[in-house]
Amino acid sequence: TGSYSWETTDIVEPHVGYKKVLVTGGAGFIGSHVADVLLERGDDVVIIDEMNDYYSLDIKQSNLKLLQSKYGNDRLKIYFGDVCDEELVTNIFETEHPTWVCHMAARAGVRPSIQDPYVYIHSNIKGTTRLMELSAKYGVQNFVFASSSSVYGGSKSTFFSEDEVVDNPVSPYAASKKACELLAYTYHHLYNLNTTGLRFFTVYGPRGRPDMAPFKFIDRVSRGVEIQQFGDGSSSRDYTYISDIVDGVVRAIDRPYRYQIFNLGKGSGTSLREFIDLVQKHVGQKAKIKILPDQPGDVPYTCADVSKAARLLGYESEVSFEDGIRLTAEWYKDAYAHRQLQVCPETQANGLGRAP
Ligand code: NAD
Repeated sequence: TGSYSWETTDIVEPHVGYKKVLVTGGAGFIGSHVADVLLERGDDVVIIDEMNDYYSLDIKQSNLKLLQSKYGNDRLKIYFGDVCDEELVTNIFETEHPTWVCHMAARAGVRPSIQDPYVYIHSNIKGTTRLMELSAKYGVQNFVFASSSSVYGGSKSTFFSEDEVVDNPVSPYAASKKACELLAYTYHHLYNLNTTGLRFFTVYGPRGRPDMAPFKFIDRVSRGVEIQQFGDGSSSRDYTYISDIVDGVVRAIDRPYRYQIFNLGKGSGTSLREFIDLVQKHVGQKAKIKILPDQPGDVPYTCADVSKAARLLGYESEVSFEDGIRLTAEWYKDAYAHRQLQVCPETQANGLGRAP
């Protein structure tokens, strides 16, 4: 079934042994968690990250420090720079010889992509193309990359399944992710590069991105600062806890398909109202709420059909939304108590790295 030809669903051969993995965007939220799990299980990791100022650099630096303090510098190599930089990425392949790629680097965020689409085209489309070119050239066995639930965009469906729902990207960010998926098919077709795109549904958890609602709400409610609610609170989203996402990413790395696209989500939605209630409960304070109209580019409802990831990757989300919010709120309290986060994220996370 679906729009892809039969041969693209073929698994090449599961591979559970040692790997040397190039993790792009490894200083970021998801990339640093993936690197952590790969290093923990005995793989070697090479990180490339340009350390851009989309949000506080302190957070990215502290993510890298954490990895270095846990694993040292023998099995973990870190390169700073742009994934579009041919010389740098070639040098990484020539020096480090990674044969697995987990491409998490991207400009993330929907709203800022409407204001400044060109940085999204650069990092997301050109960056992914550069990495796939060089991955094909250097014999990479599996190229796993981050796509996004935002590709479904303005689709009328409420339950998003990969091969049935027509994608209608409604922001340059979403379109850039769709372009990555199309290019992945092209590189699979031209060079037999095994490519798997993972459509993440709103990811949250410890070390989460400060520009995203789960972090923002926990941070602001903790500090007694007003939160913004777009719309009437009935809009619903599929929020995925970080450990579930990382588990899905690692499963995809270990199971090279010729070309595949998977949803990785929780598989059920939570309304904004319910979300705010749980934040209040686990932070232990009442929220001050300012209600604003819906924003252009925002999607009113997202819910992942994760049956394909369950069938082909053995993926299953395990963390309930309430447990996820509790764990994130606990991390937040701890991180502030130990001053791991030295900058007030609110003033840093405006999405473009500029003063608000
Ligand atoms: P993040 O911003 O924390 O991490 C991305 C990292 O990539 C950053 O450290 C950044 O410095 C780096 N980077 C960006 N452009 C680069 C470039 N050109 N060269 C080198 N490094 C570059 O974001 P995240 O939340 O960890 O997201 C990881 C991936 O997952 C992204 O591709 C994002 O689009 C995708 N995604 C995330 C979510 C989510 O809810 N967090 C949802 C859907 C998709």
